[in-house]
Amino acid sequence: MFCLDEATPGVSSIQASQKTIPLVNLQRQIAQHRPALDAAMAAVLDRGDFIKGGAVAEFEKAFAAFCGTEYCIGVGNGTDALAMILEALDIGAMGISSRDEVILPAMSFIATVEPVSRLGAMPVLVDIDPHTYTLCPLQVKDALSPTTKAVIPVHLYGQPAEMAPLMKLAKDHPFHLIEDSAQAHGATCNTQTIGSLGIAGAFSFYPGKNLGAFGDGGAVTTSDPNLAEKVRMLANHGRQKKYEHDMVGTNSRLDTLQAAILNVKLPHLADWNTARAQWAALYNELLAGIDEIDLPKTGADRTHVYHLYVIQTPHRDALMAHLKEQGIHTGIHYPIPLHLQPAYHHLGYKQGRFPVSEALAARCLSLPMFPEMTEQEIHTVAREVRSFYENGKHHE
Ligand SMILES: *Cc1c(COP(=O)(O)O)cnc(C)c1O
Repeated sequence: MFCLDEATPGVSSIQASQKTIPLVNLQRQIAQHRPALDAAMAAVLDRGDFIKGGAVAEFEKAFAAFCGTEYCIGVGNGTDALAMILEALDIGAMGISSRDEVILPAMSFIATVEPVSRLGAMPVLVDIDPHTYTLCPLQVKDALSPTTKAVIPVHLYGQPAEMAPLMKLAKDHPFHLIEDSAQAHGATCNTQTIGSLGIAGAFSFYPGKNLGAFGDGGAVTTSDPNLAEKVRMLANHGRQKKYEHDMVGTNSRLDTLQAAILNVKLPHLADWNTARAQWAALYNELLAGIDEIDLPKTGADRTHVYHLYVIQTPHRDALMAHLKEQGIHTGIHYPIPLHLQPAYHHLGYKQGRFPVSEALAARCLSLPMFPEMTEQEIHTVAREVRSFYENGKHHE
């Protein structure tokens, strides 16, 4: 059974009672594809090419094609993907405090900001758009400074950030646009697939992501040959030849076994994303007209791949408890915005600084969402949300 982790709380391993509806169930997908997955894993065991094996190169080629980039480099996880992009672009000072600034949204998983600080650069947070929950381009513009080295939009919950204005800003200013694509594999913005809109994209294949491995995994996508080369070397001890090391690198490679699993899954990703979008549309239909709830909205010219289906309500905690009593598991992504995390106290942001992020953190609720849900499960969840309001439970 796959372990619970803060990145995807509430992931359940299933065999629970029939009535339970988990936030995410990975076992159904595994069961559907078990023979192909078993065969792919057995082939790696037979070949024994566990590090940098054939399945890795095969996956890198296929995932680059999927994202519409020239290159893809498999790495150890999504956090390292971001870190190595930043490092390859010479951002930060490896432990020495530098003046390099990196702008990112106040509302994201902690992994968006961690690599920035660990490289010795300065995170500069800005608020999100109240309708799409992604980085607000106007506030990015206001936060730009002569030392801004990068902007990291996060395609939060599976919805691409508003990229066009950010891409325009990046043309007029000397900063790099790095996409945190960990929650939005396959989403599009103006018909372009995310991961191909900035200088580079960082992907995670954490098991609960839209494309998930059976452990940690990640990738960097880019069409810049120098950046691709540098990330590939950083990820593999700074070398091109076996025992000749040209730069100080690290060890962060995508395992052959994980790549073999991803090769089985990638051809199904588009269908899985379509299924998620269909369930989201059904939730939208069944939950329409409840005044106390804000349903997710998708910005113009974007496709949303619903890594998470997130509603907002002032009665979040009571609704969550009510659903749990009915055997319906939900999640909170995320209860504390980055600027209020104890680890980022030193940045000096106070409560009230980013009101949209703070309101979302206090009100957001992620309803069960995964491609293999049944129509009946969506109806059950929607019915219980409705009954909470129609029976006046939010006044209790
Ligand atoms: C999951 C995630 C990451 C990090 O990915 P890992 O593979 O867990 O290191 C980064 N950013 C966001 C927004 C994520 O959801």
